[in-house]
Amino acid sequence: MNAPAGGAVQGPLAIGVDIGGTKVAAGVVDAAGRVVARARRLTPSRDHRAVEACIADVVGVLREQHEVVAVGIGAAGFVDAERARVLFAPHLAWRNEPLRDAVQEVLGLPVVVENDANAAAWAEWRFGAGRQESRLVCVTLGTGNGAVQRGRYGMAGEFGHMVVVPDGHRCECGNRGCLEQYASGNVLGREARELARAGSPVTVPLMERVGGDIDALVGPVITEAARDGDPCAIELFEEVGRWLGIGLANLAAALDPGMFVIGGGVSDAGELLLRPARESFRRTLTGRGFRPEPRIVTAALGPEAGLVGAADLARAG
Ligand SMILES: [Zn+2]
Repeated sequence: MNAPAGGAVQGPLAIGVDIGGTKVAAGVVDAAGRVVARARRLTPSRDHRAVEACIADVVGVLREQHEVVAVGIGAAGFVDAERARVLFAPHLAWRNEPLRDAVQEVLGLPVVVENDANAAAWAEWRFGAGRQESRLVCVTLGTGNGAVQRGRYGMAGEFGHMVVVPDGHRCECGNRGCLEQYASGNVLGREARELARAGSPVTVPLMERVGGDIDALVGPVITEAARDGDPCAIELFEEVGRWLGIGLANLAAALDPGMFVIGGGVSDAGELLLRPARESFRRTLTGRGFRPEPRIVTAALGPEAGLVGAADLARAG
């Protein structure tokens, strides 16, 4: 956690719970955004009652040691604008689930439910890369400008599903040509495997890296190869970065933020991704040369951002 080092724990404390497809991570978060205690469990199968019991369990464990004022739940799914119901969660059993009321009743504490990406964006704005920035956009995360932009029905900020290539690659959302099919970590692996299957000689060093197993060509392997200077891996990053830059330029045309914070696994690659993204952003930005340019930076808080943001939003009420 990149919170201010040292110093006493600052109250009031709140608990943040991040519900992912595989694990439930919870933490006690202080008013400076520091995680002062943690608990985690595997996400229970597909039974939503079991997930709610699991939330009550981790919160109970943390409350034994810390007095808290509220609980924030970050869920990977569509959360309604009242922050009470999970309308749909692709990786979980929730369908129009009144999660807030169900958990609030068990815990006897105020509960806020937020989309996990919005929660992470909030944390980056409060305690991370976006501090001091009045208007920022977190990509792969959500949008924030002092109030998370949820839209009328709670579904704003799904930038990854803006269609950028009509009839392009199929997306899990059901459409074709969504931005995330061109500007995300998964693309690195998909393109590398396609090149390897086509027998392209540029992939020979990559194939040696994975012992000839094409299916092992995934994002983290490509990132490592690019860091080692592999020309094919670097080229794949330039392609993904180019698309990211185009996507950001479109977002800048619509939202005019002061900063873009790039999160998600692929952002670990840092400048390998951001340099080509900035170049293509500059080439694509409308009104370029006649407007201040937003900064493009990587997220600062890491995988606990969602938990920290959920806790802080709950504390704010
Ligand atoms: Zn899509």
